[in-house]
Amino acid sequence: MSQTAANTYVDWQTQSWMSDGLCSGRSDLFFAPFAERPEARVRRESRAKDLCASCSSSVECMAYARDNRELGFWGGESESERATAGFAPTTPIIGRRQVAAQRAAAALAEAS
Ligand code: SF4
Repeated sequence: MSQTAANTYVDWQTQSWMSDGLCSGRSDLFFAPFAERPEARVRRESRAKDLCASCSSSVECMAYARDNRELGFWGGESESERATAGFAPTTPIIGRRQVAAQRAAAALAEAS
């Protein structure tokens, strides 16, 4: 597991543990929807944590997410918990704002 906060990107395609993850097809649990309310986040992350607790890939998953400064819930750890441990996402707010702006622009274009 990572012991430093150095940004050491690891290619996800080389991670064999991913195929054993119990979260396949459950992105709704592991990544926040736009404008998620705090109470909904607590409920969603609690359910994600329960799934991670019985996953055989949790150690590798947590290390990977820390090394890659991932967004979302990985290895039983939320973004907030990862940030507290010294592994904050590199684009936590700006990236989301850009995605929200792109979605709004696309919705406006579709409506007109
Ligand atoms: S530990 Fe959690 S996030 Fe990681 S692979 Fe398993 S179920 Fe998915």
